Amino acid sequence: MIISRPMSGKIRTARNYVQTVLILLFFVTPWLRWNGMQLIRLDIPERKFFLFGNIFAPQEGYFLHFFLIGAGLCLFLFTSLIGRVWCGWACPQTIYSDVFDYIGGLIQGSKYGKKDSPLIGRAVTHTVWFLVSALASAAWIAYFADPYLMLSYFQKFEIREELPTWTYFFGFFTLAMYADIAFVREQFCKYACPYARFQTVMMDTNSINITYDFNRGEPRRKGTTKIGDCTACNMCLVVCPTGIDIREGTNVWCIACGKCSDACTKQMQKEGKKTLIGYWSENQIKEKTNSIKWIRPRTVVYAGGLLLVLTVLSLLLWERVPLYLSVLADRNIQPVDVGDGKVRNFYEAQMQNLTLENRSLRFEIQRTDLEGVRRLWIGGTEEAVVELPANSDRRYRLFIELEPTPQDASQKSHEITLKVYDIHDPKFQKTNVVPFLLPISIAKKKNQSVARNIWTRVSNEPFFL
Ligand code: SF4
Ligand code: SF4
Repeated sequence: MIISRPMSGKIRTARNYVQTVLILLFFVTPWLRWNGMQLIRLDIPERKFFLFGNIFAPQEGYFLHFFLIGAGLCLFLFTSLIGRVWCGWACPQTIYSDVFDYIGGLIQGSKYGKKDSPLIGRAVTHTVWFLVSALASAAWIAYFADPYLMLSYFQKFEIREELPTWTYFFGFFTLAMYADIAFVREQFCKYACPYARFQTVMMDTNSINITYDFNRGEPRRKGTTKIGDCTACNMCLVVCPTGIDIREGTNVWCIACGKCSDACTKQMQKEGKKTLIGYWSENQIKEKTNSIKWIRPRTVVYAGGLLLVLTVLSLLLWERVPLYLSVLADRNIQPVDVGDGKVRNFYEAQMQNLTLENRSLRFEIQRTDLEGVRRLWIGGTEEAVVELPANSDRRYRLFIELEPTPQDASQKSHEITLKVYDIHDPKFQKTNVVPFLLPISIAKKKNQSVARNIWTRVSNEPFFL
């Protein structure tokens, strides 16, 4: 693991501000509430995702797909425009490496990272690092478990036979984070991070990145001979947290932290010159132009894709009805001939109220190719109205009874579109298509009846008992 020399400068200051805001956001967000619910929480045991006062069910996973596609395109777009800005400014690996270095510097001073640093200083540093890892892991777990419950658990801590599931993850993430930042650090960026591997394909010679101005810098100073502007002070190399020499060209290991730029700025100030390393595109260096080409085929494609995904996602969210409805034919009970020429089909309706209001939901047959008189029962009521409390899910037995007409009896399988709506808020509605099957015996009887032409009772209107 490399512990690089600290370096102050404009980029370091700007990164300090950005990283402080991100850390605060990370720690504070789990404590925030919206409509009485946690602002963001992926509750895996409850199978619910709380987001800005909305509750999402696992069956709405397509939102997550769109979100991930959008996030991926966002990453592509920003990488093609401004390189690995994520790595240097917002990646938790980089942020916590900086936090660990800051703590190490505070405790051990100039001895931090040196081989001859006192053992006690190192032990204290590692203890604080471990505590920071525990804090950060608790904050991370709080996106999956209620932080107030976690806090009360810690307050009245007692060894129980059964620990809450999150405690295992808390222990795992604490150890993983401590091991990663305290011992692995830049090796992860170099050898394990998938983004580092494929980010180069998103960049071109117009992408802005930490770049060395070889036109001005080369050839480097040798002894007292001044040739290019680079003084060969090697400060850019000494401060690099991944141990690379940016003067050798763009490197896949560079995390665009800008420390080398700050170092070179200081060195060049002594010479009364501008820095040789900065956020520039390769073309800016080669063609000695200040203009940045933002609009390029790849940025247009990424931006267009992102816009499309965001539009679809917004429309889906706009149209979303926070009710999960699934009506399935009950495979354990076959369609039944109940006498008087009537047939019953049985179903199981599963519903989840994803709002914070109690709902009175009525079932209706919205559409069907059946012509005979239909009746529908659910939840033991002939009115087909069920009460679904806020943020809850229920299962109901549902059956549909039909007096088939000769037309209905001409085929065994039919479709019924069921509509479920809130009787106080009809816009709160969902539909589900279910099959309706006729027993062969009825179909036969009805066909005989067709011959005798005794079927007269037909209704196309949905009605309930
Ligand atoms: S080359 Fe510069 S920007 Fe890249 S990782 Fe090293 S110090 Fe950071
Ligand atoms: S910090 Fe600047 S001057 Fe010093 S070696 Fe690096 S590029 Fe050259």
